[in-house]
Amino acid sequence: MLNKIFYSGDSSRIIFFVLVISLLPLNINGQQFKIDSIRLKSNLLFLADDSMKGRAPGTQEDSISAAFIANQLRDYGFVPLIGNSILIPFTFTIHREVVFGSTFRTLGRDLKVGVDFRIHPISPNVQVEGEIMVMDFGDLKRLSANPSAIESSPMKKVFDGKLLLVKVPYDSIQFYTTPVSLLGFKALLFYSSEASSISDKSRSSGVSIPVIWISDSLAEVFLNEKNLFCEIAGKINVVRARSYNIAAVKPGIDNRYIMAGAHYDHLGNGGEGSGSMLRSGEGIHNGADDNASGVVSVLESGRVLSELFNKKWSGNKGNYGVAIAAFGAEERGLIGSKVLADTLLALNKLPSLMLNLDMVGRMKENKLQTGGAGTFKGADSLIRKVNENFNFQLTVTNDGFGPSDHSSFYNKGVPVLYFTTGVHKEYHTPDDDAKLINFKGLTMVTEYLTSIISEIIESRFEPEYIKSMAPASDTRRSFKVTLGLIPDFTYEKGDGFRVGSVTDGRPAQIAGMKEGDIIINMNSKKINNIYDYMTALGELKQGSKTQVVIKRDLQEIILQIEL
Ligand SMILES: [Zn+2]
Repeated sequence: MLNKIFYSGDSSRIIFFVLVISLLPLNINGQQFKIDSIRLKSNLLFLADDSMKGRAPGTQEDSISAAFIANQLRDYGFVPLIGNSILIPFTFTIHREVVFGSTFRTLGRDLKVGVDFRIHPISPNVQVEGEIMVMDFGDLKRLSANPSAIESSPMKKVFDGKLLLVKVPYDSIQFYTTPVSLLGFKALLFYSSEASSISDKSRSSGVSIPVIWISDSLAEVFLNEKNLFCEIAGKINVVRARSYNIAAVKPGIDNRYIMAGAHYDHLGNGGEGSGSMLRSGEGIHNGADDNASGVVSVLESGRVLSELFNKKWSGNKGNYGVAIAAFGAEERGLIGSKVLADTLLALNKLPSLMLNLDMVGRMKENKLQTGGAGTFKGADSLIRKVNENFNFQLTVTNDGFGPSDHSSFYNKGVPVLYFTTGVHKEYHTPDDDAKLINFKGLTMVTEYLTSIISEIIESRFEPEYIKSMAPASDTRRSFKVTLGLIPDFTYEKGDGFRVGSVTDGRPAQIAGMKEGDIIINMNSKKINNIYDYMTALGELKQGSKTQVVIKRDLQEIILQIEL
């Protein structure tokens, strides 16, 4: 299927290509197109000018940038991809702030906000009460690796409705909020000496359960007196703003289309929580490479492709359309592209392929990195074959996930390709300026992008999605097997895990396990407590055999369990 894509049976044309590439504008199947490098440059100078103040999402300059991009696409003959406007607004959270007056009551007294406790601004509004349950961080990490396992487990009853207290490093607290809520807890209380000065304001996105920092001395109280009852309340003010996606299409015959996209936002003045690499102070982060370069490249590619549509492809039945997209609020966590991908999915209008450009303006030694080669069949041959006309030193990786907007689309089942000339020492600093852009390289990347898209259109290549593993942080194993036993939750000696009861006809009972047995080893792993047991259980497969060592009346017995 692949071989058909490229000039098959017409090797003379390839030779022609190689000979004249440096003399003539790029020639695709006899149709000339020329990238306008002056336009590329003037567009980039506009977006990366100091007057655009770093294009921070939600600012006036953000709106100006979005309108500037949308207007050009309109001029090139593109029409709205969705609804009746190329410019699609969305709202997002600028920051979250704890409103004055949080309360925390335990042991009949009111604790002092800022001294004994602080509500973390990533929390939703807080109105919780319940008993504190203390857990070791190591145990939480183990349970977090497999939180859905708890749903079918009797452990859920123990956790349900309690407030979890754990010592967690401050900067990783948000990663535990989802697992902790899946485990059944109503709130996450943490202590961590470096967090005593946590701010009441945060640019991070919100989480589903209240997160409350408490002082070491208050933690001491909870560690000494088990199951203390608390009531905690507080209000969070969520400040939202408007940004935009730009999505325009040159339609094909049917609804299918290829999308080329790039985020247009950047870090504004930088500052705390912005993603700036500046250690201190602020300054306009122009983001000439990140990602004015990608935006001007997809815009120019759109202009050229639109001309090809008009001169060559109109009425060519079965051809794809081409969409050009620019995403807002990427630097705030791929917000714009997620919104757009969600919308397109809901409308059953996702692209057949999404090509993402992020930081393509700093080409050095002819090097170009491409990602996503593992996301559809024939990707690797496609990018390498088109590269024969360019001779970039390609680094090709397979991953369709990554810290840019293609991730949002790959997540929804869309094949993706990702292009970048890589990070540099001006990355996310006020020095990412237009004067450092390699415009010749940027022009070449734009030609390359345009050639790949024309190639797909002319050959009617159909990118066939390949699913791959989500990144480890999104992976959740679920329990495929259970032994048919109920743990004894009162057993806390730490030398094993006591069986509360066994269910008739299930693997544990069939193997001869009895109430009161203490499991000390399973699947060749030492079991000290219920968490160890759950971890070991999570590693077993349906239909497998395993050895369980139990202690019964001071005797050690080995049981063979068939799952
Ligand atoms: Zn960036």
